[in-house]
Amino acid sequence: MRRLGRDHFVNDLNSANSPAYEIEDGETVVVETRDCYADCVTREGVLQEYPGPNPATGPIAVRGSAPGEALALTIHEVKPADWGFIAGVEREASKEWRSPFSIIEMHDGMAHYPWGLRLPLDPMIGVIGVAPEGQGVPTTTPHDWGGNMDTADVKAGATVFLPVAVPEAMLALGDVHARQGDGESCGTGIECSAEVTLTVRRQPEALWRCPLILREDRLMLIASADTLDAAAWRAVEEMSGLLCKIAGLSYVEARRLLSTAGDIRISQIVNPRKTCRAVIPKAAIPDHWPFP
Ligand code: CA
Ligand code: CA
Repeated sequence: MRRLGRDHFVNDLNSANSPAYEIEDGETVVVETRDCYADCVTREGVLQEYPGPNPATGPIAVRGSAPGEALALTIHEVKPADWGFIAGVEREASKEWRSPFSIIEMHDGMAHYPWGLRLPLDPMIGVIGVAPEGQGVPTTTPHDWGGNMDTADVKAGATVFLPVAVPEAMLALGDVHARQGDGESCGTGIECSAEVTLTVRRQPEALWRCPLILREDRLMLIASADTLDAAAWRAVEEMSGLLCKIAGLSYVEARRLLSTAGDIRISQIVNPRKTCRAVIPKAAIPDHWPFP
């Protein structure tokens, strides 16, 4: 299995970036990722000069991939480093903490908080995306080709579908969190470097224009917008459209099904655009489940 090192990273998803790696359709690779400060926080919690937030390893050119297709990214393992940090809440941190960072030791499958708490690791990927057409997007911002979605369901066992906008897709990923709750309300998860094992497959046709996440019993649609209200309503509208397409429902039927059998959940409320996800369980469309 090839290992794609963390030395090659980008701070924007941009078709103008030269590919650092090229992989084949169906290839499984290990991608090393840096933390959100490019591994420039010392273990004592001092931030050194760093090259920009949310470095994403890549770009990874997927040979043959073309606009109109999707990439299906099946995540097998997200292996965090043996320590990480929580940042954010800087005003309060300056009163209560000598460092703006809470250092989290991570071993035996547990995150050890500095105030004595232990919680199981539950690692997920904050930034995963492909390049949009035209102008690039910083890796701090979520968009319809992925990016900084900070969605806790992007973890081992999930398959992420991203619509491809430019030749060879130009995939990049980083900003792994060893844990993160819905909302990411202080602005970070447990930020850490990591190794992600994933399989990248070309799909001949994108199922929808937004990122999708498949877990075994449910399908999620990711919608980002300038405000949380707009993101939530966008998740409703886009998922309703998707349900019309895959289940042959009318718009009114799709809205009523989503309202009674699905959920609108918050992914993150802290990035330059906010992200919600619409969740539909397989049990709501058992005869129209669009996956094997
Ligand atoms: Ca993030
Ligand atoms: Ca982060």
